[in-house]
Amino acid sequence: MLFEKKLTTPKESFVDITPQVRELVTKSGVTDGVAVVYCPHTTAGITINENADPDVVHDLLLCLSKAFPESVEFRHSEGNSTAHMKASAMGSSATIIIENGKLLLGTWQGVYFCEFDPPHNRKFFVKIIQN
Ligand code: ZN
Repeated sequence: MLFEKKLTTPKESFVDITPQVRELVTKSGVTDGVAVVYCPHTTAGITINENADPDVVHDLLLCLSKAFPESVEFRHSEGNSTAHMKASAMGSSATIIIENGKLLLGTWQGVYFCEFDPPHNRKFFVKIIQN
């Protein structure tokens, strides 16, 4: 089963999409399987990380900016090379096990849509596969 969800992202942000993914798992009726959350954009990504303390997201964004600083040597004419690098660092998808109709996430884990560009209208896909 394939679902498409739309969202409007704030600039350089991690949007917690765990509730939407949980809702789709329930809607699918799948009790044992996997959910693949996929981002079809080149300057945004998907990651799983802590969703209890919002400072973790702050620190992740801070460290990504330090790891991928702007450079006058970049050639990409759109001027957002660091957004492309951060997106590749996070990856485009996450696969989550579904057990007894629920996402098998750790207590502190959440699924994030990671925006590395200015605010955008974006989308992500969730493919839910029954075992
Ligand atoms: Zn670009």
